[in-house]
Amino acid sequence: MKPRVLIVGAGIAGCCAAIALARIGWAVTLIEKQSAWQFQSSGIFVYSNGLAQFRTLGVMDEMVAAGFQIADGRNVYLNADGSSFLETFYPARFEGDDQIPILGIRRADMYRVLSRHLSELGVEVRLGRTVDELHAQPARVDAQLSDGSRLVCDLLLGADGIRSRVRQLLWPDIEPRYSGFGVWRSVHRRPADLTDKIMMMAPGLRLGIMPISQRQLYLFGTVPEPAGAWFAREDWAALMRSRFAVFHGPAAQFLDELTVQSEVLYTAVEEVVMAGPWHHHRVLLIGDAAHASTPFMGQGGAMAVQDAVVLGCLLASGLPVDSALDRFSELRPPVCRFVQDVSRQVGVSGAQADALEHAKILHAMGSTAQQRVDDFYAQLERLGSHISTGNTP
Ligand SMILES: Cc1cc2nc3c(=O)[nH]c(=O)nc-3n(C[C@H](O)[C@H](O)[C@H](O)COP(=O)(O)OP(=O)(O)OC[C@H]3O[C@@H](n4cnc5c(N)ncnc54)[C@H](O)[C@@H]3O)c2cc1C
Repeated sequence: MKPRVLIVGAGIAGCCAAIALARIGWAVTLIEKQSAWQFQSSGIFVYSNGLAQFRTLGVMDEMVAAGFQIADGRNVYLNADGSSFLETFYPARFEGDDQIPILGIRRADMYRVLSRHLSELGVEVRLGRTVDELHAQPARVDAQLSDGSRLVCDLLLGADGIRSRVRQLLWPDIEPRYSGFGVWRSVHRRPADLTDKIMMMAPGLRLGIMPISQRQLYLFGTVPEPAGAWFAREDWAALMRSRFAVFHGPAAQFLDELTVQSEVLYTAVEEVVMAGPWHHHRVLLIGDAAHASTPFMGQGGAMAVQDAVVLGCLLASGLPVDSALDRFSELRPPVCRFVQDVSRQVGVSGAQADALEHAKILHAMGSTAQQRVDDFYAQLERLGSHISTGNTP
């Protein structure tokens, strides 16, 4: 009989884990609390380390077809007035010949690709369900679902994001912590000549402009906000316009066109810092449930896919399930902690509101930024290099 896994949460981590485990012969049930597939309409950037994992999962070509490649990995830095002061290049250094350094993609398009593979692999998806109770035993998990049904499985994955119910049930002391930043995002029509990833900088503020498809781009602005700050949804467009009004150049036309009808999202950014192990008996946390990061390195999605691929490889390698989970909890926390730490530092440096200090930071970036990008990806590669992908899902 096939081993059975129950995956709670159909985000990037849950969908990718479902694909990885279904490919290696597990019977997969995926439950999602939303009653219909709902996609946050803004985009996501996936860097080459995440794309390598998508390739391993067999979904890469469709992702590329749906998204927008920043083919040379160029990231252009602009001052608030739109003048350029720096360019950095993200590497395409992870496995494969057809490497792409950065892919921008609408989240909805990413999920469409993943859900097509879930159907093809026969993953049972149950929407509008959550888990009410869990009994984690040494060799199985007994889960009581919100629809009144009970499911006994060999493994349960908590892939239910920052406010994970699975984590609350088994690790109630771990709480998300507020990062001090709010992020404002909006979606716009992409002018044909806007093909770079752009990062605009002003004291205390950053505003990214990122192509996510042939037709669209998104704006991504970060600003320190007090804990507990709350804004009425109907005010989001006006607030986003005013928060980032200092930016001119290419940002101005997009900020000017924001109205109450625009696709605008506000998110108070939280982190989940959990030392590990991320499993208790046969219950394992993956993705943001275990290691949500601030978004400054754009790595949360890549880390979620990598969790899925690493788990699939370990289970496919013939290790007993418990040993595979132990190994997972050795391999993944150092990588995710590294990403969280670097991302936090980048956030803090961008939050410098004093104009003189801000100018010093930009000046220093001129000689250090490319090296930092290269060092970051080299370290990610080193940290991941001992993970065998010989037994790919
Ligand atoms: C502003 C912002 C920008 C970002 N930009 C990028 C980027 O450019 N690149 C990048 O790689 N990463 C980025 N990230 C991070 C990335 O979005 C996350 O790391 C990633 O979505 C994590 O995926 P996940 O599946 O673990 O969690 P989620 O995406 O949160 O998915 C969790 C799923 O579980 C469901 N769920 C929740 N609770 C329950 C429950 N009790 N029962 C059942 N289902 C449940 C949810 O509805 C959801 O579908 C960004 C994050 C933020 C906040």
